[in-house]
Order: sequence, then C-alpha cells, then structure tokens
Amino acid sequence: MGRIFIVILYFVCTTGFSQVDYIEKREQMVKTQLKARDIKDKATLNAMQDVPRHLFVPKNLKSQAYRDGPLPIGDGQTISQPYIVAFMTQALRLNPSDKVLEIGTGSGYQAAVLAKVVDSVYTIEIVKNLALIAKDRLQKLGYTNVKVKWGDGYHGWPAEAPFDAIIVTAGAESIPQPLIDQLKNGGRMIIPVGRNNSVRQLVLLKKEENKIITKDLIPVRFVPFTRETKKHRDH
Ligand code: SAH
Repeated sequence: MGRIFIVILYFVCTTGFSQVDYIEKREQMVKTQLKARDIKDKATLNAMQDVPRHLFVPKNLKSQAYRDGPLPIGDGQTISQPYIVAFMTQALRLNPSDKVLEIGTGSGYQAAVLAKVVDSVYTIEIVKNLALIAKDRLQKLGYTNVKVKWGDGYHGWPAEAPFDAIIVTAGAESIPQPLIDQLKNGGRMIIPVGRNNSVRQLVLLKKEENKIITKDLIPVRFVPFTRETKKHRDH
C-alpha cells in the first residue's frame, strides 16, 4: 500500500506538478517580461503563453528556460531572450493566413511561436545538427505547420516564395538581396543588421509597390549570420 502511494506520488511530482509549474513560470514570463514592457499583440502573447520553452533548451538548463535572457543551445548558438522573440513576432504585424520564412532555426522555439500565430512557417538552419534536432523536436511537439530545411538561409527558399513576412534571427552585416526579392508586395522583414562583434540594429523592412522602406527599431546582440560558401573558402 505504502509503495503504491509512493509510486503515485512520484508520478504526480514528476509529471503533473512540474507541468503546472512550467505553466505558472510562463504566466510570470508573459506578465513581467512582455506585458510589463511593450508587448500588446494578443496573438503574440497567447503564443508565448502556449509554447513550452523549457522543451527547446538543453535538459540541464530547463530550470532557467523562463528567465529574462538568452541561453546556449549547443554548437556555439543561442535561443533568444523571450522578450526579443515576442518583440520580433509582434513587429511583423502578422495575419493568421500569412506564410512566414525564418532564417536561423536554432532550437526551433521562434518557429514554434510563429506557428501558433500564422498558417505556415518555413525555417532554414545552417548548422546541420541543429536543423535535425529542431525538425525532430517540432514534429514530436505537433507543430505540423512548420517545415525545417538545412542550408544557407542567404538564398531564402525560392521554391516556397513569395512570403508575407521574413524573420532573420542571426545578426547580418547587410540585408541579403534574395530575401528582399522573396517578399510579397506589402510584405515585412525583420533582421538584426550591423558589424560583427558589435551591437546591431533590429531593422524592420517593408516592401511597398516594389519600394523598400526601412526603420531602425532597437539595438540588439545576436550570434552572427554565417555563410556556407565563406566557411568553405576559409578551410
Ligand atoms: N531562432 C532561434 C535562435 C537563433 S540563433 C531559436 O528560436 O532558437 C541563430 C541561428 O542562426 C543559429 O542557430 C545559427 O546557426 C543560424 N544561422 C546563422 N547563419 C545562418 C544562415 N546563413 N542560414 C541559416 N541559419 C543561419
């Protein structure tokens, strides 16, 4: 009898309670890190409340998943701070029917947040290992409207273009022309731009009647946008 009680207690503690804990941690995150700042968009807030961020970080960092900062995800890369994920999502002014391209899949977290807001998400990651892990994770968690590709995001995803919105989650030195070309008229792109190893500007770009309008939003730090071709040349 005692043993059964302990087994039940074990299951409640390891499954039931911890899930509730994470929901509460997310509520706190949404309240103190997002609403308390300038995140007002309902769809963005709902997505941030829904997506289990602790399942997108390495196991040993689960307890830190909801803190107000970025975390390492392996291969020298990071999962962005929750506020930055929400800020970029909100800035794109997404509609539910939008088709979105992300460059820099990383853990797959930003893609999962986007997948809660729009119909279809396409995401490209240059580090093979990360692309494979993210693909598997998103599939297991049931994000059926996300397609992950391993490759150099500089070239975009021509076969799926044009896109309503493009989000680049690696810091670029300039805005890749193929990405501008793959935006619909009326489309929006958000991308951190600036010199490597320095603070960059998060730039919002709008394509209107084939005219490009850009606006600097906030200063940010991001891991660099790398190029496959450059890597080959270096070696
Ligand atoms: N959005 C991610 C975090 C991105 S970190 C998340 O939610 O976890 C930036 C990612 O961009 C890294 O994984 C890096 O490998 C990737 N990256 C850098 N240059 C790239 C390129 N040219 N094409 C595709 N991915 C790139």
